[in-house]
Amino acid sequence: MPETPIEAIERKLLERIDILASISSDFDGITRIFLSKEMDTAAKLIKLWMNNAGLVANVDPLQNVIGSWPSENAKAPAIHLGSHYDTVINAGRFDGILGLLLSIAAIEVLQTEGYTPKHYINVLGFCDEEGVRYHTTFLGSSFLCGTFDLEALDKVDEQGISMREALKARGYDAEKIEATKPIILPGDLFIEAHIEQGPALEALDLPLAVVSGIAAQTRLEVKVTGKAGHAGTTPPKLRQDALTAAAEMILEVEKTLKSEESLRATVGHIKISPNASNAIPGQAVFSIDLRYPNYDGLQTTKASLMKALKAIANQREVGIVIDCVQETGSSECDPFIQETMCHSLSKFQEGAPTLLSGAGHDTLKIAQTCHTGMMFIRCRDGLSHHPDEYTSPQDIRAALKAWVEIIRSLDQELDS
Ligand SMILES: [Zn+2]
Repeated sequence: MPETPIEAIERKLLERIDILASISSDFDGITRIFLSKEMDTAAKLIKLWMNNAGLVANVDPLQNVIGSWPSENAKAPAIHLGSHYDTVINAGRFDGILGLLLSIAAIEVLQTEGYTPKHYINVLGFCDEEGVRYHTTFLGSSFLCGTFDLEALDKVDEQGISMREALKARGYDAEKIEATKPIILPGDLFIEAHIEQGPALEALDLPLAVVSGIAAQTRLEVKVTGKAGHAGTTPPKLRQDALTAAAEMILEVEKTLKSEESLRATVGHIKISPNASNAIPGQAVFSIDLRYPNYDGLQTTKASLMKALKAIANQREVGIVIDCVQETGSSECDPFIQETMCHSLSKFQEGAPTLLSGAGHDTLKIAQTCHTGMMFIRCRDGLSHHPDEYTSPQDIRAALKAWVEIIRSLDQELDS
């Protein structure tokens, strides 16, 4: 049996995921970092695929790829869809890329069906979501929203190359960044499809979910100061062991984690000194990653955890300094978009679960400008940011069907 046009689009989508996975600065894994030559190669291909899907495509002054559906009758507000095409170091092949390629494929399906959109539709490929090179996330999406911080141009990477210099080296004009008008405007809609990066959909035995929002997140650094001493000569009474104090504090973090279903609390990094087998640790520095569905709840949890850690320090007679290293507020997905997505998903699977995203996404940034929504796609073992990241072709086909339906429904139901 010859391939139908829709089957051909599905096949191309799967092939494109593999092609982009082969564009990497290291041979073993997948690594595509902002303003690298690999990103340029990927941008050219994405632009070509957008053109093939019937979109008018270009690469903007920051390396975002934008594909617009030209239509004389299309009205504002616009509908934007997409995700990022940069990666972490040694990444998997689906994070970001799947959402972007799925959006291009969905447009191709709609164009093949002869669909005429009521609104402007743009497919967006964001150049830097992961923030690997300049340790600043959401550069691509903030630029398209008009909220890009121009001071970021003077940030330098680990080689001492400023963003301004890196742009120039790739043939971009940093001056154009200031003059470029935003594409994502208040009142517009933005939707993103993304692998779940968690195990909930596997547990539910379903391929797709609607995202209710993105959790607020804070990162703390806790420095515990005791007194270094000889392991053989210092009796218990004279010890101020920074590591045993930190250990008790880490168990307190775990107690916090278990205190509420929707809370996430993790200690993922610890450094001690002197870090020698015959010495009592004089200092321990560890991280705490706290996430909660809303910002106020996060603040309450943070305050009570800090109080508990200080009490432990007090009781063990060690010093404690807690610094907040990073903090982002939560974002709620738009109720109208969530409802439309639930309705669309229910047509293709048994129910439409709603999940909160514990991971940050471009959607979090874009939610500060316009209405947003997200769809999650199941990934094996919830694994992400790893070469073994995997989403099955069946789930990708299911995601494409649902995504086409979601775009069409939003376009039909959104008031102009
Ligand atoms: Zn991602």
